[in-house]
Amino acid sequence: MSQYKFFQQVNSNFDRAASCLSIDEGLLEQIKECNSTYHISFPVRKDDGSVEVVHGWRSAHSSHKSPTKGGIRFAMAVNEDEVNALAALMTYKCAVVSIPFGGAKGGVKIDRSRYSSAEIERITRRYTFELIKKNFIGPGVDVPAPDYGTGEQEMAWILDTYRSMVNSLDSDGCVTGKPIHQSGISGRTEATGRGVYFGLREACSIEKEMDRHGLDTGLEGKRIIIQGLGNVGYYASIFLREAGALITGVAEMHGGVYDEKGIDVVQLKEHIRETGSIKGYPHGRFIEDSAKVLEMECDILIPAALENQITAENAHNIQAKIIGEAANGPVSCEADKILKEKGTLIIPDIYLNAGGVTVSYFEWIKNLSHIRFGRMDRRYEENAMGRLMTAIEELTGTRFQESDVRRLGKGPEEWDIVDSGLEDTMVVAFHMMYDSGHKHKTDLRTAAYITAIEKIALSYQQLGIFP
Ligand code: GLU
Repeated sequence: MSQYKFFQQVNSNFDRAASCLSIDEGLLEQIKECNSTYHISFPVRKDDGSVEVVHGWRSAHSSHKSPTKGGIRFAMAVNEDEVNALAALMTYKCAVVSIPFGGAKGGVKIDRSRYSSAEIERITRRYTFELIKKNFIGPGVDVPAPDYGTGEQEMAWILDTYRSMVNSLDSDGCVTGKPIHQSGISGRTEATGRGVYFGLREACSIEKEMDRHGLDTGLEGKRIIIQGLGNVGYYASIFLREAGALITGVAEMHGGVYDEKGIDVVQLKEHIRETGSIKGYPHGRFIEDSAKVLEMECDILIPAALENQITAENAHNIQAKIIGEAANGPVSCEADKILKEKGTLIIPDIYLNAGGVTVSYFEWIKNLSHIRFGRMDRRYEENAMGRLMTAIEELTGTRFQESDVRRLGKGPEEWDIVDSGLEDTMVVAFHMMYDSGHKHKTDLRTAAYITAIEKIALSYQQLGIFP
């Protein structure tokens, strides 16, 4: 097998889309290149007193918008090529959903299960310190967020390190995905999975597409297989189940579970949390080789783990009619071609997993404006609705039930506002991508890249750098 080059894969998707447009070659080159990549190595003191040298990267892909934005990944597979590819995906993702950021990504090459929490804290703080030293982080420069292997605790450590070094009113906006009591935002934890749900809901509402695959419209009754029950896969499956879909398969690191009656993912996650593995889950059928779970019959397959999971080697065996790319880059270019020939509908990563960065954008706005969403108007809206209900009662001579008054008269909490912004973002972007696919007669991935390239090119042109 040829050596996998992730950034090259992203660029080949870019080239296919660019060939449908007439944009200056130099401008296309500028959009494609990674503007800067910073490689750091630093010593970490382990709990036993020994010292280990750790490698980290941060890549800023595009400067057409500021700040740049993207997660930080802690994993053994992290390297420069991966970080550059993921930063480029962030640029296109932000453009597809009209989030005014350039793309970035960071990573530290560690197997986090080998480190204590205190060691992870030292690694996170030192990595942040190195970024601060080189001006690679800041609310107007580059704003990290969680990614594979990191979560809100790491983001809190980043915030604390930044705040202790930089005295600025806007410091809280230096990182997103923070705990709610550390200037985080309601709904960020669920955001990527929730966005996956909105995206699939839109795709499944299109009669023409569903007809083509012999499926009914809507999510109700759709059989779904998920790879990876981490943050994204877990929340996506929760919302999809709520909408009536059946999670018939889950593939995890050390095996999978299949149950055509549907898996209770909350219970399964609890089992994994308690035992450390999917093995021994008392319901459904255990499947030793988790790669085989991806090849089982289903309507929708959702790879929600890492890149390069569906390749030329297994693409022929994939039976799903729809693939929802919740991870970044889960389908290789070769696999994409094979699947397209088979007629599989692929909802691309740069659209489908954009919910995370969308809510990160809301969190950043909240931090810069120093006020929680809904704080100024929630009570006002409740009172206005109360007055309206009283007027209706007077006009009709009837009275609302107490439960209706409570339900209808409730003003929005922060979560409601965030969710409404996320839904709107995902719905509008889906139709923009879908219409572009129609116009250019291409698949959705190419269509998504086309919409991204058009927006970024326009931005560079308006800045006066390119003709
Ligand atoms: N790591 C996430 C992604 O790949 C979120 C990035 C962010 O919120 O900035 O989209």
